[in-house]
Amino acid sequence: MSTDVLLSVEAISKRYGGLQAVKDLSFDLRRGEILGLLGPNGAGKTTAFNMIAGYVRTDAGRIVFEGRDIAGAKPWAVCAAGIARTFQLSRPFGGMTVRENLVVGHLEKTRDRAASLRMADELIDFLGLQALADTDAELLTAFDRRKVELGRALSTKPTLLLMDEVVAGATPQEAQTMVGLVKRVRDRGVTVLIIEHVMKVIMGLSDRVIVMHHGQLIANGQPQAVVREPHVLKAYFGDD
Ligand code: ATP
Repeated sequence: MSTDVLLSVEAISKRYGGLQAVKDLSFDLRRGEILGLLGPNGAGKTTAFNMIAGYVRTDAGRIVFEGRDIAGAKPWAVCAAGIARTFQLSRPFGGMTVRENLVVGHLEKTRDRAASLRMADELIDFLGLQALADTDAELLTAFDRRKVELGRALSTKPTLLLMDEVVAGATPQEAQTMVGLVKRVRDRGVTVLIIEHVMKVIMGLSDRVIVMHHGQLIANGQPQAVVREPHVLKAYFGDD
């Protein structure tokens, strides 16, 4: 991991009516690291993600990616800049096979069908989906749909991958498989920002974690140390 900053989130905020969902949130993401984003329900994690990915407009602040402020950019422009995301609910294109699902994202970027097919087959191998390559993506199990979702994000050749709760509802074995895949994604040079509720997963995966509570950053550091901080424990288990 280098100390080179890939993404710098600078005092971003978002209000929904009377509710301040994210307030003055700032953090850096270093090239090559896996950063875990933690926080209790409603802390503002998904809103922060959506602001980075261009799905939600920031009220204030800057989002500097590879030296360029992308705050306010549309999702397709953010994706073209090199940021891909997975969704909490995987939504592969139904009526299309796993392979076709993986071809689409790449084809959008390159317009080179042969290269897209090659890339799709590489991703199918990487994800262990060989036996399902020609199956309609709608017919897959929830976990295999998640893999396709990851594959679709990777097919856009991102520099930064934003992952939202990739093991929700997974069996322990599936969770372990996903952890292995995310580590291998990082080994391929992709930086990862991951929201995850399952503490064991985030602890085993993240180089560093940040914690949000009531829209604000309340901790930033090594996973083992951060989860012992009294105010982090209070945010998770306290009653405020
Ligand atoms: P969870 O872990 O439950 O997914 P989270 O940390 O991702 O929670 P957000 O989904 O970002 O939290 O929500 C932060 C706050 O903003 C919540 O109180 C939520 O109800 C509110 N919120 C999120 N999106 C909207 C919206 N589109 N309109 C109004 N309020 C919203």
